Order: sequence, then C-alpha cells, then structure tokens
Amino acid sequence: MGNCNGLPSTLSQLRSYDNNNNDSLSSPPPPQPLPPQQPPQQPPQKQPQHHSLSSNIGRVLGRPMEDVRESYIFGRELGRGQFGITYLVTHKQTKLNFACKSIATRKLINQDDIDDVRREVQIMHHLTGNSNIVELKSAFEDRHSVNLIMELCAGGELFDRIIAKGHYSERQAAKLFRQIVTVVYNCHSMGVMHRDLKPENFLLLSSADDSPLKATDFGLSVFIKPGEVFRDLVGSAYYVAPEVLRRSYRAEADVWSAGVILYILLSGVPPFWGENEQGIFDSILRGNIDFTSDPWPSISNSAKDLVKKMLRQDPAERFSALDALNHPWMREDGEAPDKPIDIAVLSRMKQFRAMNKLKKVALRVIAENLSEEEIMGLKEMFKSMDTDNSGTITFEELKAGLPKLGTKLSESEVRQLMEAADVDGNGTIDYMEFITATMHMNRMEKEDHLYKAFEYFDEDKSGYITTEELEQALKKYNMGDEKTIREIIAEVDTDNDGRINYDEFAAMMKKGNPDLVSNRRRR
Ligand code: ADP
Repeated sequence: MGNCNGLPSTLSQLRSYDNNNNDSLSSPPPPQPLPPQQPPQQPPQKQPQHHSLSSNIGRVLGRPMEDVRESYIFGRELGRGQFGITYLVTHKQTKLNFACKSIATRKLINQDDIDDVRREVQIMHHLTGNSNIVELKSAFEDRHSVNLIMELCAGGELFDRIIAKGHYSERQAAKLFRQIVTVVYNCHSMGVMHRDLKPENFLLLSSADDSPLKATDFGLSVFIKPGEVFRDLVGSAYYVAPEVLRRSYRAEADVWSAGVILYILLSGVPPFWGENEQGIFDSILRGNIDFTSDPWPSISNSAKDLVKKMLRQDPAERFSALDALNHPWMREDGEAPDKPIDIAVLSRMKQFRAMNKLKKVALRVIAENLSEEEIMGLKEMFKSMDTDNSGTITFEELKAGLPKLGTKLSESEVRQLMEAADVDGNGTIDYMEFITATMHMNRMEKEDHLYKAFEYFDEDKSGYITTEELEQALKKYNMGDEKTIREIIAEVDTDNDGRINYDEFAAMMKKGNPDLVSNRRRR
C-alpha cells in the first residue's frame, strides 16, 4: 500500500491527483479501422434540420435553440467539472428544484468535443428510468451553452461521504455497492460502457444515511456493440483496468473500476497506489491486492472473494456485473432480489405486450415524435440486433440478440415478444416498432406528446375519439375489428358516452406505469 497513511489524507490526495489531471485520463484514440460498408437499408434517420436554413438551430443538439432561462431560475453553483458548471435551478411553473449542467459551447472547440456532449445527452436519455442513474429531464441549447436539466442529488458525492466516514461497515458497503453494480449491469445490458466509474461520479439523492445513490457524468460513456473492442486510454488513474492500459478492452473494464470502488468502500484506501501516474499504472498491471493491512484481517472472506473476482487481471475470467449481483456477499443482508433481474428492454417489451391496441398505436405516434437524441441508444440496439442490416429484426435475430444483452429466454417467450412488438403483424419488427415497444414510459410525462397522440386519433378535432375514428386509425395496423374497438371503448370510456375524451385518453396512457405515478407523487 506504499506510503499511504490513513484514509482522509489518502483519499484527498486521490482527488487532488485527479483534479490536477483534469479529472480523467484521456488520449486521442488511435487510428480506427475503416467503418464497415454502408448496409443496404439503414433505419430511417431523422435528419437534423439544415443549419444553413436557419441560424436558430443549435450546433450541438441540432434542434431549435431554446432559452433555458425562460423556464428555469438559476441558483447557486453545485459543482464544476472539465466542461461544465452545475447549478441549482428552479422550474418557474412547478417551483421544483433540479440540477442544471451548463456546458459553454465556446469551450467545444472541435467536432470531437461536440460529439462527446451529444453522446452524453443521448446516453442519458437512453438510460432514463433506471433508479440508480441521474434522470435527465430535458436538454436545452441556446447561443452560449447546452443546458442539461437533471434530477437534483442534494446529498453530495459518495466520495465526500467516504472521506467523512473513513470506511463503511460491510453491511452498509454492500447496500451501496449493490446500487453501483446495478448501474453497471443496467449500462451493459442497455449497450453502454460507462468508462469513468469512481466514487466522485456517484451522488447521493439526499443527505439521509440510507439515501439512494445515483450515477452521474456519462461524459466518457460510449455505446458498445457485441464484440467491439476499444483502444482509447480514458478513465481515472486509480480506477482504470489493466486492459485499458494495454489499450484493448471491452465492457469488463467497468467491472474492474467497480471492484476498485468496493475495495475503497471497505478499507478507505485504493488497492493500486503510486506516487505518480506511472506508479499507479505499474501497480495496476502487477495486480497484487493487499488483504493483509488493516482493516482487511477483520473483513469477511466473502467480501474479499468478491473483490478478487472483480479485480481479475484477465477480463475473460473476471466477474460480469450480473455475477457480482448474484455473489453471496451482495445478498448477505437478505435484500438482494432473488428473482432474476430483467434487463430494461425486456421488461419494457413485456409491459408493451400487455397494452391495449389503442395504447400501442398511440405510443407509436409518440415514438415518431421523439427527438433523435432521445432514441439514439435504442437505434444502436436495433442495429446490433439487425445483424444482416436489413432494417427489420426477424424472430431468429431477436432470439440471438437478447442473450447478447444478457438475458436468456425460452423460444416461446421470444415468440411472444416478437408478436407483441410486431404491431402490423408482418412477421418482423421494423425500426419504429422496436422503438415503440422498448422506449421508456416516462416519455409520456410530456403532455404535448400525449396531446399529439390524441390528435392523431381525433381526426376531425372535435375533442373526442369516436368509434369510427378509432376504427380508421387501427385499420392501418390490421386491427380495426369490431371486437377490438368494443373492448377499447369499454376499457377507456369511463363516462360511458361512447367516445373517448382527452382526459380518458391520458388516464389510459398513464395507467399501469407505476413509475409515472410515483414520479408525480414525489414532486
Ligand atoms: P463534468 O462532467 O464536467 O465533470 P459532472 O457531471 O461530474 O461534470 O458535475 C460536476 C459536479 O457538479 C459534480 O461533481 C457534482 O458535485 C455536481 N453535480 C452534477 N450533477 C449533479 C446533480 N444531478 N445534482 C447535484 N449536483 C450535481
């Protein structure tokens, strides 16, 4: 453990080291192989509007500029990073508080910087709805900055909590660590590698002792495709995996970083230490883990076993995030879920399967109105499943694709999902069908999305969806039959006037989305 002497100084050193190094290592990526040939048919691209047509289009997000200050009042600074300053903001209408990360566009010098911010926004949208990931509420761009409105984490950084506490009891550490590994698991199953996992990037939702943890800062995160290897040296020195230093790595590198966090949670000091960057790297590559210094002799073998399995030098032998979640130490206080965890996309598809046809078609309308940045992540997933680049996913592709995301399903389960998502019943899932069935239901929080969907059905703009209008709209998807219409009206038309008004429609859309209800209550 070198000459680290006691927790607070070591960890503070750790932070000042990182700050001196601009928070994260990063190097330009080495030359990449040429991109693959354009496939014959790509999922349709929502073209960003032409910049030359209107100077009102932001150069980062590619959509009309909007002044964040029209909707939010800026308060004190909460923290700052390499590109952005995060402020406390208050929504003018609801008076609710949020955090706003403000990135000055003049600091985004080259296209890579712009791409990085755009990707960060896309990835945060893609990961929306995970309870341990900071929720991105909306993104604004004006002439000077990109502003990301996020859920406010008022409890500060996990890092500061560790410094204040020294280290955690095994029970407390397990509780925190389970949330950290859940984030890794969710990222990986959604096709994202975080690449910068460290205690500074986990925030506490509140200052309560048992506050939930939220991952933030996806600034170095990337979309991953099965089999894809990364080479750029990014991350933060203490947490970087040996294969990253060797410049050939995949998602397993995140598990290593999480293993380093676990070691710190339990002992208060980092497992790989050195006087300077090279010293740290040498220590990482040697990979010796000190379990003899205090407090390790009094820590359970089970905890050490988990640390060892997450810090295996060979990524192929290392635990996956799911292995870690299933490790006995993570369940010691009995809180770990016993049932297998569904990957997010799968549970969304299952939810979709249970919806009535009106709702399915309405979601389709909403999906078609989402911005490019909101659906980019799902588009990447679609592309990775559509292995022959045909623009549609077949039963075979779905069957082969879901296990790659980390889930095993029986033939009949895959069949059921296929049939649920394939709204037009042509035997394959097209790009829009995939987005519709897998987008997160919190997209419906936006009232104008719901209203657009309602208007789609209410063709004569009478304020009501009549049985005739319903029949017309559903016919397009081969489901305008009398029985379906009758069932929908019976379910949705709560005032029994034989037609559906906007309130009935909105209630139906929000029904069965426990997340939306609880969000509403929270605020
Ligand atoms: P950067 O990517 O530029 O490093 P971060 O996203 O890490 O920026 O944010 C910088 C700091 O702002 C964080 O260390 C944290 O203290 C604060 N911060 C970021 N997001 C939030 C949030 N959602 N709630 C409260 N504070 C936040």
